[in-house]
Amino acid sequence: MPEYTWSTIQTARGEQHRYRDTATGRYVSAASVRGELDRFVDKAGRESARALTEQLRDGKIALPEWQTAMARAVKNVNYAAVAAASGGVENMTAVERGRAGGIIRGQYAYLRQFAADIESGKQPLDGRAVRRAEMYMQAGRGAFHAQKRAGAADAMPGQRLMVRSHRHRGDSCRTCIALNGKWFAMGDPEYIPVGHRECNVSCRCDEELGTMDIDGIITGLGRSSF
Ligand SMILES: [Zn+2]
Repeated sequence: MPEYTWSTIQTARGEQHRYRDTATGRYVSAASVRGELDRFVDKAGRESARALTEQLRDGKIALPEWQTAMARAVKNVNYAAVAAASGGVENMTAVERGRAGGIIRGQYAYLRQFAADIESGKQPLDGRAVRRAEMYMQAGRGAFHAQKRAGAADAMPGQRLMVRSHRHRGDSCRTCIALNGKWFAMGDPEYIPVGHRECNVSCRCDEELGTMDIDGIITGLGRSSF
């Protein structure tokens, strides 16, 4: 992974953040930050979730061990995803660490249900269990976007925040198509965040934040802003 530094830039709409490549001094595009997050999440899916669930299926580990190791992976992937949207672990504030903790606790509750379903036999240990386990790693993308939205709200108090979705070419679920490019007020229930649509945690769409002024003019912060 390349060395990035987190830099703060002043814009007409307040402070924004960008990653900068330490070697070249150039700003890093949102697409490459997202690309790295996607690779990280996919790797955790293969190397943690899939591997652990196959070991459980093959009787190499018992259910409590599986659950403990899965919980560790859930914590790592969600913490890293929130960190990626906060300028890296070393730049996380207490608020951001708390937000990551809240997301992780929510995932632990789902994981306990998953373990209970395996124990009762409601969840057979076949390919579906492997896919269900991998979804816990994929959910890291949703944590990244949740931090981006909350971080913008923290950075721009009193502003009317807006959000819009930019469709990833591979995403063709109904909601990803319908929402593409349209602005919504932050918190509008008509706007379904990335990770909560039909394509669920596999959604690779991007979210752009913006502000609306008193005349109703919307200014997007750009897809590379944090
Ligand atoms: Zn999508």
